[in-house]
Amino acid sequence: MQLIAGNWKMNGLLASIAELEALIASGPHPSAALLLCPPATLLASFAARARGTHVAIGAQDCHPEPCGAFTGDLSAPMLADAGATHVIVGHSERRIGHGETDALVRRKAEAALAAGLVPIVCIGETLEDREAGQTLAVLARQLQGSLPSSGAAIVAYEPVWAIGTGRTPNPDAIAAAHAAIADHLPGDTPILYGGSVSPANAPAILATPGVGGALVGGASLRAHDFLAIAGAAR
Ligand code: PEP
Repeated sequence: MQLIAGNWKMNGLLASIAELEALIASGPHPSAALLLCPPATLLASFAARARGTHVAIGAQDCHPEPCGAFTGDLSAPMLADAGATHVIVGHSERRIGHGETDALVRRKAEAALAAGLVPIVCIGETLEDREAGQTLAVLARQLQGSLPSSGAAIVAYEPVWAIGTGRTPNPDAIAAAHAAIADHLPGDTPILYGGSVSPANAPAILATPGVGGALVGGASLRAHDFLAIAGAAR
C-alpha cells in the first residue's frame, strides 16, 4: 500500500470541498492510502467531512510550541484538535521562503509527534546542490538535522528543482536517492517522492524501487488527476 498525499499549498476555498467529495465518492483504493493537506482554513471542515472515510486529512505546517504568543501561527495540538492526522514539516517553500532551518524542522516534527500527529518531513536538494554533485550529502545533512530524535515519521524526498517545474529526476536517480535516504532510517519508514508528480509520470515513479508513495502538489488540486495518480499506486 502506497501513501498518496496531496499538498494544496495556498489554494482552495470552501467550495473546493467538491474535490474532497469526489475523492470520498471514489471509494477505498486497494493499493493507495489517500491523504489530503488543504490550507488551514479548510482543515476542520474537511476533517469533519472525511471522518470515517478512506481519506485522511493533514496540515501543511505547525509551530514547534503547543501554545503561546505567536500571532498567526498554528500549533500541532490545534491541528490535531481540528481533525488532522498528519502534518507536513520542512517543505522547501518554508525552508527557503520562511528561512526554516533543520533544527526548527526537527522541533516541529517532535511537536507533531507529541500531539499525536504523523510528521511528513520534507528534504531535497536544490539544482545548485545537484549540479555540484552534493545531492546525497545534502540529503544526509537534512536527515541528520531535521528528523525527530524518536518516533515514527514519514520522509518526503522532494528535489527543490522538481517542485512545480514539470521536471523530475529519472527513475534511477530517484531510486538512488531513496536508497541513500533509507540507509539513515528505520526499515519501516515510508519514503515518498515529491516534485511534479502527474498522472502521466506516476506509473514509472511509483514503480521505482524504494518509493513508498507520492507527495503531490499541483496535480492534487483536482480529484480527477489525484485519483489517476492513486490508480498507479501499488
Ligand atoms: C510539493 O510542493 O510538495 C510538490 C510536490 O509540488 P508539485 O507536485 O506541484 O511539484
